[in-house]
Amino acid sequence: MATDSWVNETLYAGWGQRFRIRRELARVQSDFQDIMIFESETHGRVMLLDGVVQITEGDEFVYQEMLTHVPLLAHGAASRVLIIGAGDGGVLRRVLQHRNVSRAVMVEIDGEVIRLAREFLPSIGGDAWTDSRAEVIVGDGIDYVKRAADGSFDAIIVDSTDPIGVGEVLFTDEFYANCARILSADGLVVNQCGVPFMQADELRDTSLRRARFLPHVGAYVAAVPTYVGGYMTLGFAAKRAGLSGVPVDTIRARAEASGILGQTQYWTPEIHAAAFHLPPYIAKHLPPS
Ligand code: SAM
Repeated sequence: MATDSWVNETLYAGWGQRFRIRRELARVQSDFQDIMIFESETHGRVMLLDGVVQITEGDEFVYQEMLTHVPLLAHGAASRVLIIGAGDGGVLRRVLQHRNVSRAVMVEIDGEVIRLAREFLPSIGGDAWTDSRAEVIVGDGIDYVKRAADGSFDAIIVDSTDPIGVGEVLFTDEFYANCARILSADGLVVNQCGVPFMQADELRDTSLRRARFLPHVGAYVAAVPTYVGGYMTLGFAAKRAGLSGVPVDTIRARAEASGILGQTQYWTPEIHAAAFHLPPYIAKHLPPS
């Protein structure tokens, strides 16, 4: 039924965006959060969790490509990938696009997010859910990393909500200490770290924490239209030096070998390299390198 109603994002008390709803598709109060999926006038289908934009069909490619292809191509030979959160399936789908990925484990705390994303946002996860290399676990990411074996992953991608509610544990010393332990010798972890124009403490505090357990800490940016406030930052922490400065030609060659080159709408080898060159208003929140 067409309505002329609007939904206002709840992320900031004094500023935000709103979407005109064409049709509400799902509204579920799960054990963890309020999940809403609707057809918007402008961005295709949209998922909100506790009133905060998580993903839209219109611009999900920006965030998912940068959260996935940058760490895997910076690493160069990541075969075993752990994904925390990412219940919409978009990161899982893109991880599995990489030919050299042999195992992708996704740990999402809320099974309702997965169920509703598969039903109402099928284009985002695609056929990742049934890929033989994928293992999808409904559980708390903090528990999974606690139990995982030393050196069992080459890359960890944390696509969580912000550090409030269930997402909070994914921004703690305990979580990062276990990430460092379960990463292989040249492993790395990337985290969604919010929009520093409005959430600078999320980038600053989590970067200091990551620096306690991983020697090479930085960040890179992506311009995600529906994460309002300018650049979105993705935290980057590695055991090996130089992963945030891989030359463009090397990135291109790796992308060619992994089957990614030419398959993206935002990520390119040049965008990959440039994303680590931060404007001062963001760089100032990172620990001295
Ligand atoms: N792209 C979004 C962003 O940047 O805010 C995040 C998308 S994704 C839907 C966030 C997911 O993290 C949600 O599905 C939420 O249920 C999940 N999540 C939050 N806390 C978690 C935890 N402790 N363990 C596993 N998944 C968690």
